[in-house]
Amino acid sequence: MDVAREDVGYRAEGRVETNPDDPGLDTIGQGRLRAFVAYACKVFGLRQRLEAVEDTRQDPAISTYVVAGALFFCGLLRIRSLNALEPKLREKPFIRLVGGAGEEGGLGSADTLGRGLRQMRIETVRALSEGIVAKAERNKVFREGWIGGMHAVALDGWEPISSYSRHCDKCLVRHVRVEHGGQVVEVEQYYHRYVVAMLIDERFDMALDIEPLLPADLRPGSAGKNGEHEGEQTAAIRLLQRVKRNFGWLEIVVADGLYPNGPFLTVVKQLRMSAIVIAKKDTDEPLKEALVLWGNKPAEQVIVDGKTKEQIALWDCRDLRTLSTYDGPIRVVRASVTDPEQPTRRPHTWCMVVTGVATGRLTAHSVLRIARGRWHIENTGFHQWTTLWRFAHVFVHDANGMLALYWLFFAAFNLLTLFLYRQVRCYGRDRGKRVTHTISRLVEEMRDDLARLDRSPWDTS
Ligand SMILES: [Zn+2]
Repeated sequence: MDVAREDVGYRAEGRVETNPDDPGLDTIGQGRLRAFVAYACKVFGLRQRLEAVEDTRQDPAISTYVVAGALFFCGLLRIRSLNALEPKLREKPFIRLVGGAGEEGGLGSADTLGRGLRQMRIETVRALSEGIVAKAERNKVFREGWIGGMHAVALDGWEPISSYSRHCDKCLVRHVRVEHGGQVVEVEQYYHRYVVAMLIDERFDMALDIEPLLPADLRPGSAGKNGEHEGEQTAAIRLLQRVKRNFGWLEIVVADGLYPNGPFLTVVKQLRMSAIVIAKKDTDEPLKEALVLWGNKPAEQVIVDGKTKEQIALWDCRDLRTLSTYDGPIRVVRASVTDPEQPTRRPHTWCMVVTGVATGRLTAHSVLRIARGRWHIENTGFHQWTTLWRFAHVFVHDANGMLALYWLFFAAFNLLTLFLYRQVRCYGRDRGKRVTHTISRLVEEMRDDLARLDRSPWDTS
């Protein structure tokens, strides 16, 4: 079936025509959920990808497909916990939605799903989400690139859950001081921390990959012998290497103030990528040298951003070689940004360390825009995942189970984003502040659709 024909199929059924002035989806009728499944199937082969997920249970009564499918839709429809999901596993609309059990049979229990998650093979569930992003790339969704036509991936640490009581054998542990009965006492706190890689773009953001920080006893070789957990950068490097292997078309890494150091920038260089990293410490090279060179000199360029109306003063210094742990030239850009709504307030200063050939072509202003794009990972990513997507809810306290669930939720998040961007035409062009609202409305409509689902949405013939 060709693409034009596919478009007619789900557009007609989902009635996705929208008023270009209204990204609120107010005029959309029912059929959104069915339209989403049809799109995900025809364009991204969702069914086959879910069927390819494996786990290590022996002769399970409920198939791995059902476990993966039920939890994929649990993420998509933002069902708040396994307990909230449990009654749905016996309801016909949800059974039809997942498709894979007889209508009488049901989809098992919350315990079954929990067990399936704990034993899910991570590489197979990671392939589900990676395959969707790779297919989108082949379909030229990312062809335009972002600023300068380039593709940027942001890396950031993320700690979705912590607890003073519940823990597993892969928890990280730290000692924290808390007030208890009028006294300050030191207690152990258990937590799981990850580094997340996100494709950042003006139009949409995609969750690309996630890597846990390892506890001391699981670190490779003798690295954890002193009882220290893995640092964020170690996990980030492992993550970045895999991300570049899977998505060779990414050119720029964007990261926060933890990363403007020789070892990290060297890995970026070895991967033939460019880096734009926030620098915060005036005393660290190469920012220290750049500040000396700039002294009290006025900005080399002062511009007004056409979109935000901010006044931006820019300093740009290339070919610095004062960072002894990095072999190559480094560029440092400083920007002083004045908010047009608060012109008397002190401007906000940004300093960025820039390496690599690709970023050499970018103007200082473009470097700033990409660095500030890192905000997407915190806003579109972490904030939304925590407040709306229930990522921070402990569905199952097990390292493998949590990671498997995040991969299923990533697949749902990415497909929903692609659906919005490709099908709700006004969404991508001018996302602005209403994007989260738009997504929430769409999810609400899908939940309403679920109650009305009278046949399997997988049957798209
Ligand atoms: Zn744990």
